[in-house]
Amino acid sequence: MSAAEHDPNCIFCKIVAKQIPSRLVYEDAQVYAFHDINPWAPVHFLLIPKAHIPSLAQVTPAHGDLMGHVMALIPRLALQEGCNPYPDGGYRVVTNTGTEGGQEVRHLHFHIMGGPRPWLRG
Ligand code: AMP
Ligand code: ZN
Repeated sequence: MSAAEHDPNCIFCKIVAKQIPSRLVYEDAQVYAFHDINPWAPVHFLLIPKAHIPSLAQVTPAHGDLMGHVMALIPRLALQEGCNPYPDGGYRVVTNTGTEGGQEVRHLHFHIMGGPRPWLRG
């Protein structure tokens, strides 16, 4: 990760750099996935680009390959982590964006939540 793609003050950049521990779900050159520390559902993990993109509001067509990679990974990782198959199972994919969107961590992330209901939230 080049310096320009890493924000030293960002908690998720620190997780990618393994300066803060996380429970790994998946990692490759472009993305990192780890279990949410405060899960809403039996399965709840976060999928993030390794590069520091603050939110969905900063995504442009230049991120097309990365976003395609993320979207294709979500169904694969959801099943790997124990979500039940579509259509009776399934999962929820959430990207909170900005203050009014409920975003707390300003590094683009996709919540993937699933598993048998009821859930704690959501
Ligand atoms: P959001 O409100 O969409 O920005 O969600 C941020 C999410 O990051 C929340 O669900 C938190 O529980 C989760 N989170 C914050 N810090 C950590 C951490 N160190 N490891 C795993 N998940 C985290
Ligand atoms: Zn970051």
